[in-house]
Amino acid sequence: MKIYNTLSKRKEDFVPLEEGKVKMYVCGPTVYNLIHIGNARPMIVFDTVRRYMEHKGYEVNFVSNFTDVDDKIIKQAIAEGVEASVISERYIAECKKDMQAMNVKPATTHPKATEEICGMLDMIGTLIEKDYAYVASDGTVYFRTRSFKDYGKLSHKNLDDLQGGNRSLLVSGEDQKEDPLDFVLWKPKKEGEPYWESPWCDGRPGWHIECSVMSRRYLGEEIDIHAGGEDLIFPHHENEIAQSEAANGKPFAKYWMHNGFLNIDNKKMSKSEGNFFTVRDIGQKYDLQVLRFFMLSAHYRSPLNFSAELMEAAGNGYDRIVTSVSNLNYLMENSASESMSGEERVLSDEAEGFVTQFDEAMDDDFNTADAISAIFELVKFANSNTKEARSKEFLQCLKDKIVTLSDICGLIVEKKQEILDKDIEALIEKRQAARKARNFQLADEIRNELLEKGIVLEDTREGVKWKRA
Ligand code: AMP
Ligand code: ZN
Repeated sequence: MKIYNTLSKRKEDFVPLEEGKVKMYVCGPTVYNLIHIGNARPMIVFDTVRRYMEHKGYEVNFVSNFTDVDDKIIKQAIAEGVEASVISERYIAECKKDMQAMNVKPATTHPKATEEICGMLDMIGTLIEKDYAYVASDGTVYFRTRSFKDYGKLSHKNLDDLQGGNRSLLVSGEDQKEDPLDFVLWKPKKEGEPYWESPWCDGRPGWHIECSVMSRRYLGEEIDIHAGGEDLIFPHHENEIAQSEAANGKPFAKYWMHNGFLNIDNKKMSKSEGNFFTVRDIGQKYDLQVLRFFMLSAHYRSPLNFSAELMEAAGNGYDRIVTSVSNLNYLMENSASESMSGEERVLSDEAEGFVTQFDEAMDDDFNTADAISAIFELVKFANSNTKEARSKEFLQCLKDKIVTLSDICGLIVEKKQEILDKDIEALIEKRQAARKARNFQLADEIRNELLEKGIVLEDTREGVKWKRA
């Protein structure tokens, strides 16, 4: 399996630190609002990376944080007149709902910055001790960027170029920095903001330190993969490397993966421009499985443009797979023969070729665009080889392949048949007749059958009423 590593700027063979195991950290969202479809891209992409690795037999320890202390959260809390934690807890819960709706698996651990302050104080203390950090007279702790000799290795930036670019960026309050390149590890509290006690001042952490600390706590000092959107390469991930490697004295992450940006109608997504969509907005217009399909139809490192036309095309593509699976189910129900014939065995070997094609695409830096093409070819093969009567075993074999490959992409392609109102009424009538005939066993079976389909029955004086649970 090859992964493009931002650190080396090339595709490298994936060799885990520990055989059979993958330690993976993905920078998660800052929770001050509902997540937008840009945030959804790394969630879907890296969930698919995780699913593929699990499919290959790796045990994946997947950590993704919630940044729950930040200027934007505090601003929103002040606007609503509530504590910052009310805002962050609300949007963490909403984010988890969106993740579930997009079929993004929950992480092994979802740490929150505010619950990891102790670890941050510890790491900052180590950095001061090792002279990689210093305390300014107001209690702010800065990382001494030039003291970390590898600074710039991820973003391939040269310190002196950065110096030139950053000199003008010195903002007020930061004039105690030894060098404009230094960045904040801990900052003093401001009136009305959440704060924690520390040896340097009452205050709160800078943004970058949380990921170094949470990654170390849940995955160890050295990890396999660290990931996020490409906007995080600099300064966030560069600073994380500096903090972790300086504090631990070890290389931090082996592979750095970054997804390209999602634009809308070829423009940067922006609230003020009015081209900004939350996942919730999109969920009202489309099945979120279509959003997932759309995200995976491009390579994760390429920029991706979102538009109504492209979503329509994604919807058609996704439907093609769903329809094929439902046809195979129908054919299976109506098939007269059980086992595969010799000819069907040859065909099923041929179908295996599309599975290999899928794996080869995914092994090549998770090329989901080509992997989805392989699913399409398999669907085409299934459709054209099931025009005549086929055995159940053969049909099941085709279906299993389509469902397994789709599942690696997190695509749910086997839709539960919606039970229609008229079928419910018919079953209720059958149950009433069974009760009249004192066949209570059958009556109970029917009640349970309906319950499994999400229909709850209520016996009232006016007769039987039902509702969808
Ligand atoms: P944030 O809440 O801004 O820290 O973002 C959470 C994650 O979403 C990070 O990995 C970002 O890189 C990613 N992200 C934010 N906006 C976009 C976008 N328009 N396209 C792709 N990824 C994005
Ligand atoms: Zn991070």
